[in-house]
Amino acid sequence: MQASRINEHIYLIDTETAGIRNFIASYVLKGKKAAIVETGPTSSIPNVLIGLRQLDVKPENVAYVAVSHVHLDHSGGVGTLLKHLPNAKVIVHPKGVPHLAHPEKLWEQSRIVLGSITELYGEPQPVPEDRIMGTTDGTILNLGNDLELRVVETLGHASHHQSYFEPLSHGVFPGDAAGIYLNEIGVVVPTTPPPLRLDIVLASLDRLVSLKPRSLYYSHFGKAADANIRLLNYAQQLKLWAKIAKQGIDGNEDVETTSRRIVESDPAFQKALEYVKMRPVLGETVLNHSIRGVIDFVKKFGTVPE
Ligand SMILES: [Zn+2]
Repeated sequence: MQASRINEHIYLIDTETAGIRNFIASYVLKGKKAAIVETGPTSSIPNVLIGLRQLDVKPENVAYVAVSHVHLDHSGGVGTLLKHLPNAKVIVHPKGVPHLAHPEKLWEQSRIVLGSITELYGEPQPVPEDRIMGTTDGTILNLGNDLELRVVETLGHASHHQSYFEPLSHGVFPGDAAGIYLNEIGVVVPTTPPPLRLDIVLASLDRLVSLKPRSLYYSHFGKAADANIRLLNYAQQLKLWAKIAKQGIDGNEDVETTSRRIVESDPAFQKALEYVKMRPVLGETVLNHSIRGVIDFVKKFGTVPE
């Protein structure tokens, strides 16, 4: 397990969830106080704790554990981690609060959607409600030494998703709002499982672009430069998928044929499918449902402007 330096204030812990490297990241920000962005699932927490020790972060000095949304791969471990951090508050969108405080329903739903993969993630532990802060867009989390995180509401992937902007490095922690960056092969692929609001995903991308970020700190996985180009390219990729989905629906095509045409239209996605053959957990978690999310959205709401 390796914690690595991203810049002067930000570090990355590879949680190596299910033994897979470059899959789920947890970030550590060190100002006067420390913050953690994303925890990974319950099974990742031993590695997060090793990372914090490597980075010489004292548990009592962690002020915030900020998560993008309540899906298990991003924040399933927060209840377990919090037991080790006596002063930390959990930061989440207000709609995520009940899921973190009472994760039983989330766990049951995850077991239905993800099947046996949930066993690799581990069951989430509840977070005491008085330790959770539901935050709205614009909330500032001050860490001292001019370091801060600003909450940016980025709904769409989930109805309670938020990103975090870090002004010193002009970087964004986009959670699942900007796709998945497979850093070993250099491609971005959609993270758009059902139930998806593609129109809201695109509005959230516009919002992130308006911040003019220089870097993206992907939860899956790692730092990438040229942030704005990546965000714009991601929006284009989603619009192309939606266009093909619309053609399919208009032509009464079956879902399998439409899915195949989407894959054929997208070399980055083809590369990703090849890559995840060796990493089935990753494929099951993040790729297989993304096409279905877009097709279902277009069926229900019509397409999005090009
Ligand atoms: Zn997610």
